[in-house]
Amino acid sequence: MTVREGSLEAPTRHPLDWKSEDFYHEDKLNHELERVFDICHGCRRCVNLCTAFPKLFDLVDESPTLEVDGIPKKDYWEVIDRCYLCDMCYMTKCPYVPPHEWNVDFPHLMLRAKAIKFRKGGASFRDKLLSNTDALGKLASIPVVVQIVNAANKAAPVRKVMDSMLGIHKDRVLPEYDSAKFRSTAKPDASFPVKDGKQTPGKVAIFSTCYVNYNEPGIGHDLLKILAHNEVPSIVVEKEACCGMPKLELGDLEAVSRNKDINIPPLAKLARDGYAILTAVPSCTLMFKQELPLMFPDDPDVKAVAEAMFDPFEYLVLRHKDGLLKTGFSKALGKVSYHIPCHLRVQNMGQKTRELLEMVPATKVTTVERCAGHDGTWGVKSEYFEQSMKIGRPVFRQMGDAAPDYISSDCAIAGRHIQQGIGEGAAGSGAEKQHPITLIRIAYGL
Ligand code: SF4
Ligand code: SF4
Repeated sequence: MTVREGSLEAPTRHPLDWKSEDFYHEDKLNHELERVFDICHGCRRCVNLCTAFPKLFDLVDESPTLEVDGIPKKDYWEVIDRCYLCDMCYMTKCPYVPPHEWNVDFPHLMLRAKAIKFRKGGASFRDKLLSNTDALGKLASIPVVVQIVNAANKAAPVRKVMDSMLGIHKDRVLPEYDSAKFRSTAKPDASFPVKDGKQTPGKVAIFSTCYVNYNEPGIGHDLLKILAHNEVPSIVVEKEACCGMPKLELGDLEAVSRNKDINIPPLAKLARDGYAILTAVPSCTLMFKQELPLMFPDDPDVKAVAEAMFDPFEYLVLRHKDGLLKTGFSKALGKVSYHIPCHLRVQNMGQKTRELLEMVPATKVTTVERCAGHDGTWGVKSEYFEQSMKIGRPVFRQMGDAAPDYISSDCAIAGRHIQQGIGEGAAGSGAEKQHPITLIRIAYGL
């Protein structure tokens, strides 16, 4: 049989069979891991994407047979635990994804392994804690508590204890919490007349996200200001829970399902009422656009929400194509080092943020399209912090070398990680970190 080198057809992703008992069958998982690892060993294209692939190839090269069959099955976990489900191998490198007959979906195979581990009770207290973004945010943003939490996160002795007792690395700069939560302080303006474009609904509902709600509400307020400036009526989604991405990364698929049951009914109603739904966190947008539809392929509400979901810059650039975006920017941004996070790249919509930033006069954008290495909660963990900084090093260098006025990433967590990675005294260290939405608000003079 001749096997073609890579598929010529567009990749298709199979739904995740997470409700079948076979999905959780450990022997079947190991058999599939060995099959896919063997294909990867023969291919090795992904060696520089993350630390999961180099670990796999080291294990092969050190095995007595010099093949995958010589790796003890228990060592597979060293590969699985290094995968943070960024999807880059599937979306940008792999020629063997379906419809190719080899049917390689490396991230979803890692997800299956994580789900089996979770079901067997293999998730640590630290990992469960970090994935509870909503509960943590609710607690940490209570007035008075918020000052204590923010001060503790900066206190070296406390961080040492957190490192040794919880496994949260002492040197990782953690985001501050804000007691003025976005959802309770947002001022959406629904008073403008609805102007539907060819490619964009004329009214917007904002899904806040845990990060914007509890950590950086300013990003959400800036998005509302930009929409009002462009006379787009907006509302904030009435009720929301975490999108489920941190639970997905943990392999806790039942928790993803529970959050989906809270989020999808009100979002589906908004989608059917003709709203565009915007979230300012690429991982959350991806969850609604791609991961939930693969977990619930027969759910019409999930499909309706996926179709109504936009990245904010995707919406604004399409609005521009519809002739409905104001481009009278009054303030130049100068030099902007802009990073595209993995979870935005895999949405396959082109570089919409860069396109809009480049519409601002006297603004030079240096675009860096490479994994920065933080990846949700992964880069916070004691055992992965150093690797996370190492993965990010080429990004830190490229961003800093441009001697920017601003450093910016659509992923606010990646932006903070890049700022930390550039470090004090290095090229670019004097640059201001701002989210791209905030940069557009500044450029509009709002
Ligand atoms: S999904 Fe991302 S982290 Fe996981 S193996 Fe692929 S490239 Fe590496
Ligand atoms: S995921 Fe695909 S491209 Fe990457 S090493 Fe494996 S077979 Fe090669």
